[in-house]
Amino acid sequence: MQKVSITFLGGLGDIGRNCAAIETEEQILLLDCGQLFPDELMPGAHSVLPDLSYLEDKKDKIIGCITTHAHEDHIGALSQALKYAEFPIYGSLFTLGLVRRRLQEAQILHRCELIEIQDGDVCDIGDFKCEFLPVTHSVPSGLISAISTPQGLILHSSDFKLDLEPIDSRSTDLNRITELSKNPGIRLLLCDSTNSDIPGRSASESDVGDSLRKAFELNRGQRIIAACFASHVHRVQQIAQIAIEEGRKIATLGLSMKRNVTLARELDLLKINESHIIDIEDVKDYSAHEVCVISTGTQAEPRSALAVAASGESRWLTIGEKDSVILSSRSIPGNEDRIGRMINNLMKLGASVLYADHLELHTSGHGQQEELRVLHSAANPEWFVPVHGEYRHLVAHRDLALEMGMPPETVLLATDGDQVELTDEGLTLIKKVTSGGYPFTQGSILEETHQIFPERRILGNEGCVIALVVVDATRNLIVGDPKVISRGWLGGDHVTKLEIDLEEALKESIQKSLSAQNELTVEQLHKKVRRVAGSFVNSQTGRRPMILPIVEYLEFD
Ligand SMILES: [Zn+2]
Ligand SMILES: [Zn+2]
Repeated sequence: MQKVSITFLGGLGDIGRNCAAIETEEQILLLDCGQLFPDELMPGAHSVLPDLSYLEDKKDKIIGCITTHAHEDHIGALSQALKYAEFPIYGSLFTLGLVRRRLQEAQILHRCELIEIQDGDVCDIGDFKCEFLPVTHSVPSGLISAISTPQGLILHSSDFKLDLEPIDSRSTDLNRITELSKNPGIRLLLCDSTNSDIPGRSASESDVGDSLRKAFELNRGQRIIAACFASHVHRVQQIAQIAIEEGRKIATLGLSMKRNVTLARELDLLKINESHIIDIEDVKDYSAHEVCVISTGTQAEPRSALAVAASGESRWLTIGEKDSVILSSRSIPGNEDRIGRMINNLMKLGASVLYADHLELHTSGHGQQEELRVLHSAANPEWFVPVHGEYRHLVAHRDLALEMGMPPETVLLATDGDQVELTDEGLTLIKKVTSGGYPFTQGSILEETHQIFPERRILGNEGCVIALVVVDATRNLIVGDPKVISRGWLGGDHVTKLEIDLEEALKESIQKSLSAQNELTVEQLHKKVRRVAGSFVNSQTGRRPMILPIVEYLEFD
């Protein structure tokens, strides 16, 4: 039979920018197309994308993209991919609701058809027969994909957990996976590795409900501001439910929370009666114990609703002693300091703050080792590639599969840019068919390389010093005085004095060089100015800002 390849364009090495291309001779089916949020090593970047260069000369082969669920790391790069090629996007109604909004904002919705998938649907996408199964995760309506290919069935777990008491009673469909493992059998499993290094099982979303209830009881007379991820509709449901039982009205704070609540209520995924909802503007008209505000901003993003309220600058919410803030989330690594500062600010305003360290106010949407074992047992795959994780997660997941008895040659550890090829003989790994680079956007510009970041880090940390020297080339003389301007280098009075001192140092030193040596080239002068300015700045201040020499070389007749 004809071979089938899977090229990992992102998501194997980081948690984010998930994207894979499943490919036959004639067709490519994309599986997710998400973004990665840049870290401090990429200052100023907005969004990191999968390396889509592999698709550059294969645009006509793309027959569609399956979106497994509505998280940004699975849908956030669709707008970029649609600039390459037009293709239909498949997903559940909720996922497509969020996809539609993003593509509308990017003004690119016209380049795709959105095709709705329901639990259990089987549909032909080109030559691939795809069956979609319900899966439990921290966003509603996620889908496991069972993709029938010329080389057998590929099962993609999506982001998943095994919650015995999911809020919407929609469990991960292990029974169907077991059936598929027997008939026709699962040739290749691609499975979520996020929590593969954590023993045991994740707590049920219902357990979080118990903790939230306790938190509400402890703060009965207070106004409650509960923050969670805006896409975590089940968490919102639990918070709203408890608040309503306590006789509180619900208001939402933050644009994404308002939009997601509206969408989820329209789709009947979130059940809050209109009579319980008030506008955030009207919160001030109610006593503290009559209101619960459900907010975004758990990661203390600089302009997020909660961070703004914590800094006392919100036009919607004035935080004070009557407020209890519940952070129903985990800290995404890298955000801890910022979140700590927000908690400090909230407390300085008099609010009490409860977060996941105190009570079990959050549970992960990703299964831990016990849950992974259950899924592996049900799927009983012939071949396995761990996906969705940093490298350490992929390794831990491989080890788990080996412990469970999979023969080592049937578990392949791939990373971004790698391709695996399924043939009649089995699965082989082809390293780096594409660079596995990290293209990113800043503003409306797409950048392929990272040359800009070392410069930007120096500018961010040290600032820059610009030194302008005008030279009369005919007479080998400096014209006028050199001019020094700095930005972000030093503050206060230091800067003015040092700029003047540097101007004098440059005048003396460059004039000396000009007198000593006839016919200095512009390049030599540039170097000289940079060296003089650099060593002056370093010896006077112990700092290394970027030095930008500008030499005007004038030839007079
Ligand atoms: Zn997810
Ligand atoms: Zn994910």
